[in-house]
Amino acid sequence: MAGERFIYMDNNATTRVAPGVVEAMQPFFVEDFGNPSSGHFLGARAARSIALAREKTASLLNCSPGEIIYTSCGTESDVTAIIAALESFPEKRRVVTTAVEHPAVKNLCEALTEKTGRDYRLTTLRVNRKGMIDLGEFKASLTVDTALVSVMWANNETGVIFPIGEMAAMARRRGVLFHTDAVQAAGKIPLDVEEVPVDYLSLSGHKFHAPKGIGVLYVRNGSPFHPFLMGGGQERGRRAGTENTAYIAGLGKACELAADHLRGGVEKVRELRDRLENGLQKMIPGAEINGGGSPRLPNTCSIRIPGTRGDELVKRLDERGICVSAGAACKAGVCKLSHVLEAMAVPPDYGTLRLSLGMDNTGDEVDYLVKLLPEMIEQNRS
Ligand code: PLP
Repeated sequence: MAGERFIYMDNNATTRVAPGVVEAMQPFFVEDFGNPSSGHFLGARAARSIALAREKTASLLNCSPGEIIYTSCGTESDVTAIIAALESFPEKRRVVTTAVEHPAVKNLCEALTEKTGRDYRLTTLRVNRKGMIDLGEFKASLTVDTALVSVMWANNETGVIFPIGEMAAMARRRGVLFHTDAVQAAGKIPLDVEEVPVDYLSLSGHKFHAPKGIGVLYVRNGSPFHPFLMGGGQERGRRAGTENTAYIAGLGKACELAADHLRGGVEKVRELRDRLENGLQKMIPGAEINGGGSPRLPNTCSIRIPGTRGDELVKRLDERGICVSAGAACKAGVCKLSHVLEAMAVPPDYGTLRLSLGMDNTGDEVDYLVKLLPEMIEQNRS
């Protein structure tokens, strides 16, 4: 693969590990391999590196280092937060979420309902055609019986950003705990938990240039918490398992890079994304942006194109070395829209492509795609 030329526009699926992150991780495999709980100097070195990474992670979220728990991934952070909140209020039986959550939240919430005998009641907030929820409907869901709200900060398919600050403040006024899955938001928009009063927040390293297999759970000081993984007393008894020193150090570095990117690079990504969207919409009659008109992540373009199939376009682009995602899963010629696009009432005769840009993309790549994709669609149709 070395030296192979390709265009990567699938950064919401995963990102390239940044060279600075690889460098930050390197010492902890062969040289500084100690267990951070050990009483000798190698252990102390590992523990110091974790403490340093924790400070950098806390700085990205504007919280204190003691509010950061390292996990294995975004999914683990989501599940831990939801289970912890529900165990804290066993008498309350309602969970509020949205129709467009990632399966990490969606599938757990559905598993908590009556159908599985667990006797939770689920309120699933709908979204409109622009992928946005209704704050009136949300307010009505905050009943005396509501234990927890779990709503994503930004959507992985469309990039639509929910008004988490407003929602978390409303939940707090009603005494309802609030979790947000901020996995797609990290490094793309500012995340400040001093301004946004969430109780729990999840991140995943591989979405912002750290490796796969490391996640973060923020738990506000004073918000109730029960460990999901019990065992040794790591992470101050909140997440057992020997700490993954190398990946934690890498994640700390990735947080530092994300903060730098937010101060400058992100605007370049937004310009590229806008150039891509405007170019494609001009060249492809009838193409529309899913979530257009709603606040969106600066890197995400989810475009629906009449009379095409997203999976076919993904395959054709792949043959040209271009990596993107589709918005539907197709088997034996039958396509099932993703639950996100279905919730937004996207008509089934459109094919959707998700193009998610990152800091490595260039204007030339965007221009190449704007020229190539309309030609490909024409060929497909004829
Ligand atoms: N939440 C969102 C919004 C995501 O996009 C993803 C991954 O795609 C996850 C959670 C799960 O993260 P992980 O792959 O680290 O478990």
